[in-house]
Amino acid sequence: MNVVRSIAQLRAAIKEERKLEKTVGLVPTMGFLHKGHLGLVKASQAQNNCTVVSIFVNPLQFNNAKDLSTYPRDEERDLTMLESLDVDIVFMPATEEVYPSKMNVSISVSPIEQQLEGFHRPGHFAGVGVIVTKLLNYVQPDRAYFGLKDLQQYFIVKNIVEDLSIPVEIEGVATVRSETGLALSSRNARLSIEGLALAAKLYTGLQLVGTSLQANGSPQQAEKHGLKYYEQYQGIEVEYLAIVEPHTFESIETFLPERDVAVCVAAYIEGVRLIDNLYLRPDSPE
Ligand code: AMP
Repeated sequence: MNVVRSIAQLRAAIKEERKLEKTVGLVPTMGFLHKGHLGLVKASQAQNNCTVVSIFVNPLQFNNAKDLSTYPRDEERDLTMLESLDVDIVFMPATEEVYPSKMNVSISVSPIEQQLEGFHRPGHFAGVGVIVTKLLNYVQPDRAYFGLKDLQQYFIVKNIVEDLSIPVEIEGVATVRSETGLALSSRNARLSIEGLALAAKLYTGLQLVGTSLQANGSPQQAEKHGLKYYEQYQGIEVEYLAIVEPHTFESIETFLPERDVAVCVAAYIEGVRLIDNLYLRPDSPE
C-alpha cells in the first residue's frame, strides 16, 4: 500500500498505475473508517484494478467549528484497515496544500443545494463540491464511489460531474448498517451505549414512514406518523423529516409508486447530528 501525502506524489503514483493500463477507482473519505467506507472500497476493487482512498477532513464543508474540531480522527487505525483490504494508494494531503489560499471559486448546485442538508448546513455543499472537484482533478479516476447514506451529496456530485463534463462515472453504494439498523457513521463514535440505541430508532422511523407511504399513498400522513414515532423518544431531536423527489430534493405532494422517492431524516442525539434515509426505488428497492 502506497501512502502519499502530497499531490505531486499522488500524481506520480497514479502515472505508474496508468502505465500498466490499470483502471482507477477513487473513494473519497474523511477518515475514522468503518464498514460503510470499506463497502465503498470493495465496490471500487470489484470494478477497477487500482483503488485510491483519500482521507481528508475538509474544513470547507463544516459550517460548525465545533463539529470540525470534534470530528474523530485516527490515522494509524485507518491505515491498518486499508492495508488489510489491500488498497493500492492512500492519499492524505495537508490542508495547506489543498487550500493554499482563500478559495475564490464556489460551486453551487440548484435546486438541490437549497434543500434539507443544504438548508440546514449553509455552505456545506459548496465545500463538498470544491473538495470533490479537486480530488477528481488530482486523481482523474475512471470511477468514484459515494455512499447513498449521504443521498443528497451523491446527487449533487452527479450533477457537478455532468454539468462540468468531468470524465468519471459516479457510483452510488448502498448504506451499510449495524445489526440494529443504525447507519454506520464516524460520528457514531461520539455516542454512548444509550445514544447508539436511540440512534437505531432513526432507521425504524424511516421504515415506518416508508410502509405508511406505500399503504396510504399520503406523504403528509406518512410524515406525521414518522414524527409521532420519534416524539416518543426524548433523546431524539428531529431537525427535519422529509419525503422528497431525489433529483430535486423537493418534498413530494403525491406519492406515485412507480417513481423514486427518498425519506430523509436529520436528528440530534446527545448533541451529535446524524442523518439517514430510505431510498425507495421501484426497480431496486433497498
Ligand atoms: P465520510 O468519511 O463520512 O465523508 O464518508 C465518506 C464516504 O463514505 C461518503 O461517500 C459516504 O456517503 C460514505 N459512507 C459513510 N457512511 C456510510 C455507510 N454507512 N454506508 C455506505 N457508505 C457510507
